Amino acid sequence: MNISRVKKTRKLATVCVMGTLLSMTLSTVTVAADHARNITDKEINETSNTADWLAYGRTHSEQRFSPLKDINVKNVGKLKPEWYFDIPDKTDMASTPLVVDGVMYHIGHLNVVRAIDARTGKKLWEYDPKVAKEVLGKSMRRVFWGNSRGLSTYGDKLYIATWDGRIVAITRKDGKEVWQTRTFPADSQLNITGHVKAFDGKLFVGNGGTEIGPTRGFVTAYDTETGEKLWRWYLVPGNPADGFENEAMEMAAKTWTGKWWEHGGGGNAWHAWTYDEEFDQIIFGTGNGSPWNRKIRSPEGGDNLFLSSVVALDADTGKYKWHVQTAPGDTWDYNSNMDIVLADLNIDGKDVKAAIHAPKNGFFYVIDRTNGKVLSAEKYVEANWSTKFDLEKQRHVIPESSFYPDGKKNIYPSFWGGHNWHAMSFNPELGLAFIPSMHLSVDFTDAGKDTDTNFRATKFRFGLGVGAALKTMPGKPLGSLQAWDPVTQKRVWEVEQPFAWAGGTLTTAGNLVFQGHPDGKFKAYDARNGEVVWEYDAGLGISSPPITYKLDGKQMVAIMIGPGGGYTSNFQGSGDVGFESHGWKYGLHQRRMITFALDGKANVPAQPAPEVAKPIVDMNFKVDEEKAAAGAGVYALDLCIACHGAGAVSGGVKGPDLRASTIPLDKKAFESVVRDGALLGNGMPKYHTLSDEDLENLRHYIRQQAHGGAAHADAAGH
Ligand code: CA
Repeated sequence: MNISRVKKTRKLATVCVMGTLLSMTLSTVTVAADHARNITDKEINETSNTADWLAYGRTHSEQRFSPLKDINVKNVGKLKPEWYFDIPDKTDMASTPLVVDGVMYHIGHLNVVRAIDARTGKKLWEYDPKVAKEVLGKSMRRVFWGNSRGLSTYGDKLYIATWDGRIVAITRKDGKEVWQTRTFPADSQLNITGHVKAFDGKLFVGNGGTEIGPTRGFVTAYDTETGEKLWRWYLVPGNPADGFENEAMEMAAKTWTGKWWEHGGGGNAWHAWTYDEEFDQIIFGTGNGSPWNRKIRSPEGGDNLFLSSVVALDADTGKYKWHVQTAPGDTWDYNSNMDIVLADLNIDGKDVKAAIHAPKNGFFYVIDRTNGKVLSAEKYVEANWSTKFDLEKQRHVIPESSFYPDGKKNIYPSFWGGHNWHAMSFNPELGLAFIPSMHLSVDFTDAGKDTDTNFRATKFRFGLGVGAALKTMPGKPLGSLQAWDPVTQKRVWEVEQPFAWAGGTLTTAGNLVFQGHPDGKFKAYDARNGEVVWEYDAGLGISSPPITYKLDGKQMVAIMIGPGGGYTSNFQGSGDVGFESHGWKYGLHQRRMITFALDGKANVPAQPAPEVAKPIVDMNFKVDEEKAAAGAGVYALDLCIACHGAGAVSGGVKGPDLRASTIPLDKKAFESVVRDGALLGNGMPKYHTLSDEDLENLRHYIRQQAHGGAAHADAAGH
């Protein structure tokens, strides 16, 4: 089809009907909003529109900066809950809500979308894409990522991407499904946790899932009106014998060795995509080589393009424009799937159209987005995998030891990154980026390499090809929030935090930075110096980023209460870096959307106190150590670990702590849940292929862990 012609037609059809906003009143709930309003890129890019929050990062710049200053450093102390909405989900909360014409839209567990009145918190409608029925009911062992980080709006519709690979268009007015399409087959091990990005009549989407099977990653663009596929771009080259799709793949193939295509290569774009309207390009990050270990993936070395890169494609055609590889030859799970923020900077007296980016690898990049040249890249956290980024050669200087050729090597940052998906924000008035940071290291080994037995990743099973044990960093806190000046590449302030995995940020012209924390505190910091100027105890951990909007002359700040994302799975087991210590016991605490305003009057019910799981001691169950050892293998390979945690110590977010559950004590009950799918509705898959022996071994493993257990399994992460 002729894409450019379609684009022009759509732009001509644009109608803006903002006027009806004025007629809204508190008493009219469903008729207040003008649902026919045709959201365009012009509106999404309008920085002065503070009534709405129209896109993931507010505007296409992804800055998460609001010019609102009704709430500011001076009066933020008076911020109180204005309304709350109880979200009936039990697990991960990770998304950014949208606000359009006085209605808030959010996406929750298993991709259920809810519309709520943005003034009162009253629910208007709900749309359920029936993800559990689509996948888990068909006995697919899809586990792990039942959460989504957001949704998009364009025209008069909302768009979501589902866990199982569907793109769905629904009306903003009443959540009625308009069309849906698949971006990968339902039985693929791929998954989607990112939002589908709407821009210029197109929907851009990537995926995750490389770590549970051999895959070749790709990104795809669809038409917003019809769902028709417009273009697809693979992130890594396929088998040369099949020919290459384009010149970019031919170029990339020169950076691979061996028979990489047998392992898929990987290359997911699971998060971080930015539409740069000025240069008509879509810029996105990639990561997740398949498997992690380059010695298996590409045995004779090589940079392995386009893994761990920032890539710019022509937004209309999907044609390659430029790339920056942030981790050549990635062997450390250094995704570049972290925010890519557009910022106009003045560097050495020159105006620069920049993209700023703080990926997992610990370097803060300032990229000239007109051509992909790295203008500067400096360490924003401790990093030993690379000595420095050589600007002249435009590549990292990487010591050979970083590839751990001689066995174990302690590498930092860890595979969770110096920064993960938690939103970085950028305040253009202060010229500062706010980065939720982490300080962890990892002992990497070739434990999973095993080339003698011809390593093969298996669909729906962990296949990283490495041993990876997470460590704290001596003398460093687990996490921090820092303000970073991209022009000087200097840290302006840093607030230490006694936990990793703090939430995403929002910054405002009121000189504020808002951030939720895994311990349940929602705080406002003075953006100029990091001083805590307000805090609220939500009684449950927070991972999602806050948003702000102004209706009827009142600025509000909204945030989803509830922890979410990979780290909450507790891959670390019990100990100093696990998530279980927060006590967010599965099923105990209420997930919520809370909206705050100055002198807000809502009475939010108190949460139950945190409660760390207490294993059931039942010595009538005689643990057979041999069966328990076999069960440990089933537990790890079949991904029980992904929700119930390493060593059966649950982080409390994705699933219950099995040591404290009576179900494994009862053979019949255990069978009905694990093999027959009794808890499908909760997101627990049906493992119909497990044998009686597997199930029995699993029970022995879980009971062994309940009684003090064996050593915890090695860590693994998104
Ligand atoms: Ca990963």
